[in-house]
Amino acid sequence: MPGYKRPCRFCGKLVDENSTVCPFCTRAHPLQMVCPYCFAPIRVDWKVCNACAKPLIVACPKCAAPIGPDSDACERCHTVVRYRCPTCAAVLTLGSRRCDRCGAKLKEYWKAHGV
Ligand SMILES: [Zn+2]
Ligand SMILES: [Zn+2]
Ligand SMILES: [Zn+2]
Ligand SMILES: [Zn+2]
Repeated sequence: MPGYKRPCRFCGKLVDENSTVCPFCTRAHPLQMVCPYCFAPIRVDWKVCNACAKPLIVACPKCAAPIGPDSDACERCHTVVRYRCPTCAAVLTLGSRRCDRCGAKLKEYWKAHGV
């Protein structure tokens, strides 16, 4: 059904059902909590993705605070732990030239983020 909208999990505004990023609050995956690597649906209390076995909670490299699948930066010290594809919101390997998932070119993205 095209044009069907549901409320964003973070800000509550209505977004398209197939959105990978909320256009209002810019958070990734506004409708369903998903694995940041393979996009399989996950649950809040899972520690590992059941589809790709990657850890969903990582420790901040600076202050060791746990960082869940919904945040890309440490809430305590603001260290960025994940970069996401600007096109499909998949987690990127630092410095990679293209997104592994959708093939988007990332040169400008890394430049804009000073990486
Ligand atoms: Zn939102
Ligand atoms: Zn996964
Ligand atoms: Zn931290
Ligand atoms: Zn992508």
